[in-house]
Amino acid sequence: MVKRFENKIWLSSPTMHGDELRYVTDAYESNWMSTVGENINEVEHLICKKVGCQYAVALSAGTASLHLAVKLAGVKSGDKVFCSDMTFAATVNPIIYEGGIPVFIDTEYDTWNMDPVALEKAFELYPEVKVVVVAHLYGTPGKIDEIRAICKKHNAIIIEDAAESLGATYKGIQTGTFGDYNCISFNGNKIITGSSGGMLLTDDEEAANKVRKWSTQARENAPWYQHEEVGYNYRMSNVIAGVVRGQIPYLEEHIAKKRAIYEKYREGFKDLPVKMNPYDEINSEPNYWLSCMIIDEEAMCKTVRGENDVLYISEPGKTCPTEILETLAKYNAEGRPIWKPMHMQPLYRNNPFVTKNGDGRARTNAYIEGKSVDVGMDIFNRGLCLPSDNKMSEEEQDIIIEIIKGCFK
Ligand SMILES: *Cc1c(COP(=O)(O)O)cnc(C)c1O
Repeated sequence: MVKRFENKIWLSSPTMHGDELRYVTDAYESNWMSTVGENINEVEHLICKKVGCQYAVALSAGTASLHLAVKLAGVKSGDKVFCSDMTFAATVNPIIYEGGIPVFIDTEYDTWNMDPVALEKAFELYPEVKVVVVAHLYGTPGKIDEIRAICKKHNAIIIEDAAESLGATYKGIQTGTFGDYNCISFNGNKIITGSSGGMLLTDDEEAANKVRKWSTQARENAPWYQHEEVGYNYRMSNVIAGVVRGQIPYLEEHIAKKRAIYEKYREGFKDLPVKMNPYDEINSEPNYWLSCMIIDEEAMCKTVRGENDVLYISEPGKTCPTEILETLAKYNAEGRPIWKPMHMQPLYRNNPFVTKNGDGRARTNAYIEGKSVDVGMDIFNRGLCLPSDNKMSEEEQDIIIEIIKGCFK
């Protein structure tokens, strides 16, 4: 009989090492407590070196970097922008900040990221679109070559949301370099953290300079506060940068641990009717930020999700994400549902959605009948994120695996 965990097993919590405190203390003792200082300069330098980009601008959040990337891309009121559909809302909300209209592109099954076939379809439907925002979900690089080729053909700018994928590579190259403007995050649950923070990465010097200026209230070079453009208070604090600086040397170690967690789950679940979140094993190396699984269709018990609640009927040999998540919670372990696709969100009910078959809104009300009609909805309905915390011990993970196996009995 499995006992409740005494200490909660988290989805993904910060893993600290001690160096963070040293750099924060440096900031304190030198009194560089604002948005200027050695830690900021150093983290920008270290990330450029690690990722392989020319310029990095440290900001208060990944969302701030996405917002300024959308501005750099020149999105204006009423402009449609193609974007990943199955992702965190922060990927797409910045389009709204600038008055743009997100057009959601369905997901593919191979990497759970933007489907290039659906993207090409979207350009047929909306040839005027000039900007594409593409995320790498859960640390797994998407179909980068295909997406870049399509964007090149249609002359569209790419904004890469690498918030979850820092350290992941595609054909040996780091994510965060494939877009014109690229965004990373140091939020508390990411692969490394500053407690908060983010960065805009680019090889375009002029763009980097604009972001530096906009993020510090857009002051002109004058003896007084002179303004020609709208500014933002988006710069990273030197204290936060101290935390990030202490974490950067541990990125590879964090990835190795996350990878071990992923592989242990894969091995542990090999006799269950489930699959792990997939990746392109030939071309990509994820950072394994979150381990996820998807339940085979035949092993799904009956379940109906409304906007704010869910019902399921437990059956021998079958389960569903809700039952697994509830069971994990009972034992004091934290899993999560898959990001609910943006096209299913009440906020974005009226926005266009494109699948590999074309207009994804032109469908029957199959969802109401409990059937998935697009890839994102299907992964959301059958998938979940597993406890993926780097401080989880192997013994604890063994117990998690047993708990989940129990749901299929
Ligand atoms: C975390 C995250 C962001 C936002 O980063 P913050 O630093 O929390 O603002 C954006 N996109 C994705 C996909 C994320 O997971």
